[in-house]
Amino acid sequence: MKILVLNSGSSSLKYQFINMDKEEVLAKGLVQRIGIEDSFLEHELSDGREIKIETDIPDHGKGIKLVIDALLSDEHGVVDDIDEISAVGHRVVHGGEKFADSVLINDEVIKQIEEVSELAPLHNPANLKGIKVCEKLMPNKPQVAVFDTAFHQSMPEKAYMYALPYEYYEKYGVRRYGFHGTSHKYVSKKAAELIDKPFTEAKIITCHLGNGASVAAVDGGKSVDTSMGLTPLEGLVMGTRCGDIDPAIAPFIMEKEGLTASEMDTIMNKKSGLYGVSGISNDSRDVEDAATDGNHRAEIALELFDYRVKKYVGAYTAAMNGVDAIVFTAGIGENSKKSRANIVNGLKYLGISLNEEANDSRGEEVEISTPDSKVKVFVIPTNEELVIAQDTKRIADFSG
Ligand code: AMP
Repeated sequence: MKILVLNSGSSSLKYQFINMDKEEVLAKGLVQRIGIEDSFLEHELSDGREIKIETDIPDHGKGIKLVIDALLSDEHGVVDDIDEISAVGHRVVHGGEKFADSVLINDEVIKQIEEVSELAPLHNPANLKGIKVCEKLMPNKPQVAVFDTAFHQSMPEKAYMYALPYEYYEKYGVRRYGFHGTSHKYVSKKAAELIDKPFTEAKIITCHLGNGASVAAVDGGKSVDTSMGLTPLEGLVMGTRCGDIDPAIAPFIMEKEGLTASEMDTIMNKKSGLYGVSGISNDSRDVEDAATDGNHRAEIALELFDYRVKKYVGAYTAAMNGVDAIVFTAGIGENSKKSRANIVNGLKYLGISLNEEANDSRGEEVEISTPDSKVKVFVIPTNEELVIAQDTKRIADFSG
């Protein structure tokens, strides 16, 4: 079975085409600048060959058609016939309270995704565009929606409710949802295997540290808490997002600076985090370089980032009344040995000790705690596309 995984953004489209018999990526790529000038498709094959097609891509319809043409192409294709694409898996950012698992897409599901789009106005409409185009281009193929929020639907009320007037939850669905669910699920499951404990019995804290960042507490295979909330703004310090702040700061700055709600939202989402504090970049590598050169604001930005992760790990250890393993994943988690060392060295009270030599690695699965460490610490590269493909296979198989 071969599955096309699509992640449709507002002006871009990422894809992977995976042979599920061996869980092997046959081709992957990116359509960029949809609806903008200088649009192009980059297509990469498993043998490393890369093809770039520069052409006018006015909408998602043309973008997805180009992806299918690339997969079928005589020169750089990987299938002879469109029927070899068995199913399509779509990343959908927000499933609200309606979806606690991935689901086979039909008209009712599309309606329900539309209904929660208000909670993710930048993402869900773009995800829906991808779904609708695929339904048109490949009408008889199973299409599956895989939600970033679904894994966290197991959170108990005490973790997902905000202490606001209850009517806002009832009227508008104001509660915590959490994101990066496919990643937290994938790496927590792997960690349970690595410590040789059934997933249903393990207590695992997963730190997904990328440009967007979140921590999750996974108890007995279920997410019981996570740091992102109604939107992906809550929680950790991120590339350009502030994460947790005193909520009174928003109206205070709005009054002082004469800002609208939407301008304040932009400041918290796009101008804060590593970028806002350092004034240098949202990319942790640039901020690390500046800190090495002695830039104080860069040093502070990184300290804030690491300190916040450490606090969440402490909080989630308390939430689960213990922890067996901690996982680092995503861009910073997989690559920044400095961040990992700062965080892990602050957790000695849990009986954790860092294996400095093992931590001196990038982007590979490795145990970075010492053999006598009471809590195991791992770096596990995430693979959200594979989770989407696995779920798509499970649900498409079942759908007949
Ligand atoms: P992601 O959102 O998972 O793609 O992660 C993006 C973040 O990971 C950025 O802040 C990058 O600076 C960081 N990152 C990616 N690759 C590396 C690397 N090789 N070394 C350090 N940080 C990296």
